[in-house]
Amino acid sequence: MTQIKIFDTTLRDGEQSPGVNLNQLEKLEIAKQLERLGVDVIEAGFPASSQGDFNAVQKIAQTITESTVTALARANKNDIDQAWEAIKEAKKPRIHVFIATSPIHMKDKLKKTPEEVIDIAVEMVKYAKDKCIDIEWSAEDASRSDLPFLATIIEKVIDAGATVINLPDTVGYTTPKEYGEMFKYVKENVANINQVDLSTHCHDDLGMALANTIAGIQNGATQVEGTFNGIGERAGNVALEELAVALEIRKDFYPYHTQIVLNEIKRTSDMISKLTGMIVPGNKAIVGRNAFAHESGIHQDGVLKNTQTYEIITPELVGVQSNNLVLGKHSGRHAFKERIVQLGFSLSEEKISETFKSFKQLTDRKKEVTDDDLFVLLMDIQTDVSHRKHYQLESFQVQYDSTHSPTATVTLETPSQKIVTGSKSGAGSVEALYNTIESLIEEKVQLTDFTLSSIGKGKDALAEVHVHLKINEQDVSGRGTAQDVLEAAAHAFLNAVNRVFIKLKVD
Ligand SMILES: [Zn+2]
Repeated sequence: MTQIKIFDTTLRDGEQSPGVNLNQLEKLEIAKQLERLGVDVIEAGFPASSQGDFNAVQKIAQTITESTVTALARANKNDIDQAWEAIKEAKKPRIHVFIATSPIHMKDKLKKTPEEVIDIAVEMVKYAKDKCIDIEWSAEDASRSDLPFLATIIEKVIDAGATVINLPDTVGYTTPKEYGEMFKYVKENVANINQVDLSTHCHDDLGMALANTIAGIQNGATQVEGTFNGIGERAGNVALEELAVALEIRKDFYPYHTQIVLNEIKRTSDMISKLTGMIVPGNKAIVGRNAFAHESGIHQDGVLKNTQTYEIITPELVGVQSNNLVLGKHSGRHAFKERIVQLGFSLSEEKISETFKSFKQLTDRKKEVTDDDLFVLLMDIQTDVSHRKHYQLESFQVQYDSTHSPTATVTLETPSQKIVTGSKSGAGSVEALYNTIESLIEEKVQLTDFTLSSIGKGKDALAEVHVHLKINEQDVSGRGTAQDVLEAAAHAFLNAVNRVFIKLKVD
């Protein structure tokens, strides 16, 4: 069995999904979960892109000990300097430097000749190698590059010190046969190729990301780049949970294995979905809500007689729990603390007390508090940046009756700690609420998406709202949870607004 190394780029390529903007604490929580999941490499970000990204990468590098932490850099000294500054305290640092190698990218984007591109690539790999032992080099748009040219440049960057060679299908254009043949060609035509790991990086524009990735592996790739839930630029990247489970379930056919701790998959997926606001479709392979639901009578009958008649993956394999443990009104601090640890969170005593208070408040209104509820509660506390929050919801009221337009009255605390109150109406309750909040803040806001879902089951379930807003031409997302739908909606809106403020301040 050949070991395939898993390179997760949820925090870099995944964060490039439109409307996704994670704060530093959210990125750190995701990185810690990725480490628990057993990924070999975490691409933490692109430090030269903003001060905020730099800080997040640095924090992750200082915290993670098991996985390699890498940061992206274009082929210039400033990017490489910033990447190194951000990751140098990591236990296993790696600089990831890239340059485009396809004719269209070299000519129209870089405006460089192929010879110039080789010179830059070699010089920058050497420059990075002076700082860091582990250097990954990517040939952007490799799948549309000229193969002999690709072989030439790869051989030279390996001589210059590269330890991993990544060949991305940047635009999601390739087919499994072509992508596999590119790896085969490189294996056969680059003399020093056996000194390095070869890596895939596939996008799903034509729905072929997973098939292409596997074709790469079958032709010599030993590292796979992808994201959780398949998020990423445009149609996204290959979904790592699909790859890991496919290799496990079909190990009779594929002689490869990964170090992924499979029963951490569901939790990782949930965390990333909640924090990014990129909701997983119900029918999504492995992690969708319906991935293990058997609906038709014939299937249900079969599964009851023998689960293997229709079930190829057990929910337990990927960490889907059928018997959710519940806590209630009478659960004490000790049981609560134990559950926190079991859910994989490590909180300071101060934060445990804070969460326990919120938990108690919740049990006043909700009979059973499930793991899903706790997960949200803990996540909110763990990723809260309230000391820098600019707008806080003090109180609100919505008047609704079916014969009149609803009116909302909202009181907020502003960035300058002033208390302001306003009132507006709208065609619906949410609109009235949002019109009012908008009138109280200085920004011009446009709501582009609104999703409401429930956490768990039952009429008393927590409501979760995700919004996408356009604020000052920036796409930004926000989330909010509360027992009441309107309160969750208000929190989600302000959460998005505050993210823009934090960004403006930090960057
Ligand atoms: Zn990509």
